[in-house]
Amino acid sequence: MLTPASRVTKPDPADLLTWYDRHRRDLPWRAKPGEAVDPYRVWLSEIMLQQTTVVAVRPFYQRFLEKFPTVSALAEAPVDAVMQAWAGLGYYSRARNLHACAKAVVEKHGGLFPGTEAELLKLPGVGAYTAAAVAAIAFNQPAAAVDGNVERVVSRLFMVEDPLPKAKPLIRTLTQDLVPADRPGDFAQALMDLGATICTPRRPACALCPWMTPCRARAEGLQETFPRKIKKEAGQLRRGAAFVVLRADDSILLRTRPPQGLLGGMAEAPTSIWEPDYEPSRAVLDAPLDARWQRLPGVVRHVFTHFPLELTILFAKVPKGTPAPEDMRWTLRRDLHEEALPGVMKKVIAHALGELPAPAKEAPVKKRAAPRKGSSSS
Ligand code: SF4
Repeated sequence: MLTPASRVTKPDPADLLTWYDRHRRDLPWRAKPGEAVDPYRVWLSEIMLQQTTVVAVRPFYQRFLEKFPTVSALAEAPVDAVMQAWAGLGYYSRARNLHACAKAVVEKHGGLFPGTEAELLKLPGVGAYTAAAVAAIAFNQPAAAVDGNVERVVSRLFMVEDPLPKAKPLIRTLTQDLVPADRPGDFAQALMDLGATICTPRRPACALCPWMTPCRARAEGLQETFPRKIKKEAGQLRRGAAFVVLRADDSILLRTRPPQGLLGGMAEAPTSIWEPDYEPSRAVLDAPLDARWQRLPGVVRHVFTHFPLELTILFAKVPKGTPAPEDMRWTLRRDLHEEALPGVMKKVIAHALGELPAPAKEAPVKKRAAPRKGSSSS
């Protein structure tokens, strides 16, 4: 549903492109004017940027590209190496899909990304947004790439009254109507830049906006009330216990999560199940081995997309030569950086032992143990 446009004109894509030519962001994955666009870099950056910020992605992108400079290099790499390079970015199913997608591009398309939205959509892990973004930016196709930034800009421009997510199809149609035949790739990036730098969620800088005149929300002084949203129920808090075991040779007990599900394929200190009514006082019953367990003061808190988690930490020291339980392994503390530890597990180990040591130099990827049976994930 749109608010009637009585006093405003249609936004002109040319105004946005003129603004973009002056104010475009200099991003490591973005081709400079006149430079050839590398579809691999565009695709990689778009996958990395989902649900996170440019600032967070920059260092990961650079490191990732050094390790896997081409789609073929990525396809040939062991999946463990990809997971390790991804560790810290979150949303680990994306790293597995990234690898699967690289293999598909090499095996089915001879190492060249397909150039149409429809073909890109068939690749693993490539959804509607990514397909449109890659088609537009890498292949200059007139595709409408609609992410959260674009939803905000367009819902304000046209005062889309329907709340998200119901408004998504309408916003997509409105965006598609704006895409020019000339420079659709620059237009997609210009719209992203406008949303990221000018049409921000709070206090949009409307006075600097190339579409200030046709913007309906600005005309009504209602910018910050768009896009309309339905209030989300916060996920229910889950609790659990994590077990940090330090062997006398300075190694830590770890296991690998099953490939599917939350943090799939990542390394972790053994944990209990995570559930709302988990009782920490009984945590020792879930311990992976017999030891003198010490419950550490405080808890580790972490917020996943769908729920917050609170982990009680139990710590134990065991003698040298203690064998690892089935499907678990010992990793020397100095080698922990080689493990694909997600953020929550870095917090757990840091809570028990202090910060993880930084890698001394580039190290080979550690062979991963087989996935354990019986997930403790939610
Ligand atoms: S005028 Fe303001 S609210 Fe409208 S698109 Fe521009 S920055 Fe966003």
